[in-house]
Amino acid sequence: MYLAKDVFLVAGISRSGIAATEFLLSHGAKCYIFDELVSETVSASMSALAAKGAIEVKPEEIENIIPLIDVLVLSPGIPIDNRVPIAAKKAGKRIIGEMELAGLYSTCPIVAVTGTNGKTTTCSLISDILQTAGVKHILAGNIGVPFTSKLSETDENTVAVTEVSSFQLETMHSFSPHIAVVTNVSEDHLSRHYNMQNYVYLKSKLLFNLKESEFAVLNYDDFIVRGFSEKTKGNVVYFSAKEKADGAYLQDGVIYFRGEAVMERSLIRLGGEHNLYNILAAVAVCKLLKLENNVIAEGIIGFKGIKHRIEYIKTAGGVDYYNDSKATNVDSTLKALEAMDKPAVLLLGGKDKGQDYDGLFRACGEKNVAKVILYGETRYKMLKSAERAGFENFCVATDLFAATHLARSEAKAGQCVLLSPACASFDEFTGYEQRGDKFAEIVGNFT
Ligand code: ADP
Repeated sequence: MYLAKDVFLVAGISRSGIAATEFLLSHGAKCYIFDELVSETVSASMSALAAKGAIEVKPEEIENIIPLIDVLVLSPGIPIDNRVPIAAKKAGKRIIGEMELAGLYSTCPIVAVTGTNGKTTTCSLISDILQTAGVKHILAGNIGVPFTSKLSETDENTVAVTEVSSFQLETMHSFSPHIAVVTNVSEDHLSRHYNMQNYVYLKSKLLFNLKESEFAVLNYDDFIVRGFSEKTKGNVVYFSAKEKADGAYLQDGVIYFRGEAVMERSLIRLGGEHNLYNILAAVAVCKLLKLENNVIAEGIIGFKGIKHRIEYIKTAGGVDYYNDSKATNVDSTLKALEAMDKPAVLLLGGKDKGQDYDGLFRACGEKNVAKVILYGETRYKMLKSAERAGFENFCVATDLFAATHLARSEAKAGQCVLLSPACASFDEFTGYEQRGDKFAEIVGNFT
C-alpha cells in the first residue's frame, strides 16, 4: 500500500475515521470520506476534513466512487456485511480498519489486548506499570484514542499498548503485535457477529500473525482461550489464578512469574477476582517486557481502578452505590456480583445485544442478590428469562431514573445497589459513560 499513490475511501466518520483520514491526508493520500449517518456532529467532522483536502461522498454517489478507490478504511461501527464493504468486496478492493492501517505504519513494539471483558483494565494496568518504570509508551485503540492519531509520537523505543475489540478484528489482517493478550471469551455482540463460533474466531485472529519470536499471553483458566495456543506460532505464556501455569500465576497468596515471586496478593487494592486475572495478565506482559518485579508491584499497588467499572459512588442511608455501567454483557455482570461483599440490589437492562439471560437469573438465585430491578428496552425479554429460570425476586421500571429510585426504596441499610446492566446503553444513552454519569448524578442527590 502506497499512501501517496493509492486512493482511499474512509467510511464512518467518527473518532477512528477522523483519525484515519487525517493520517492519510498528512501522508499525501487521496481520500474520500463517507458516512450514512446524518447528524450535526458528523457533518461538522466531514466539513473539517474536507477543509484539509478530503472529498465528501454523498450516499447516492457511493456506488460510483467505489470503482475509483484502492482501499476502503472501514469504521469498527460499520458491520462487514453493510452495503459499502459488500460493494467494495465485490469490486475487489482491499478492506482494512483504522487499527490495521496504524499497524502497517507503526515501527514500535505493540502490546495488543483483546477478550470479552477486562481489556481496558488490563491495558490501563500495563500502561500504569510502564509509567512507573519510566518506559516511553502510548495507550491507544478501542480504549478511545485512535492508534493512527498517536503514531507520530512513537518510535522504535516506544511501547504501544493497544486495546482491540472484536469489531476492529473484523478488518485486521496483517496486524502483528509483539505481545498479544486474550483476557477471556464469553458470549457478547452476537447481534453483530451472528454466532459464538464467529465471535470466537474473531478473537483468535489477533494471534494469527505472531512470529516465533513473539508472545501470546493467554488465560489458562478459560477453556476457549487456552485452546487458542493451537492457533499461533508465537510463544505461549499463560496466566492462571487456579494453577501453576507456565507464566503468571497465584500460589499461596503470592503472584509468581515462572517460579519467581513478583508480589504479595494482599498488597493489591483493586477488588474482585476478575481483576486478579487482569493483574496476572499485566504481570505476564510486563515480565516479558523485562520490567523489574518491584516496579511491577509498585504500578499495581498504585492502580485505583477505572471509572464506570465497579466504581464506588457513595454511601447513602447505609447503602453503598456502585456504578458498573461498563458491564455490557452477562459475564461482566456475574463478575461484578461476585466482587460485592454485601447483598446487592442489581439494576439490569438497556439495549439487547442478542444474549441469553437465563443463566444470569439462575446465578442471581444463587448469589447474594437482594433484588433485581429490570429496566429499559430489554426489560420484557429479561422478565421472560427470569421466569424461565424460576427467579421471582425482581421488579420492573421503565428507565434508569425510575430504576435507580426503585433500587433506593428496595435497598436496606447494609446492602448495596449495583448498576451492572449486562446490556448496551443505546436505548437511552449515547454510551455506557453517559449512562454511568447519569446514575452517579441521580445517586448524588440521595441522602
Ligand atoms: P472491556 O474493556 O473488555 O470492556 P473493562 O476492563 O472495561 O473491560 O471492564 C468492563 C467490565 O467487565 C467491568 O466493569 C467488570 O464488570 C467486568 N470485567 C473486568 N475485567 C474482567 C475479567 N477479567 N473477566 C470478567 N469480567 C471482567
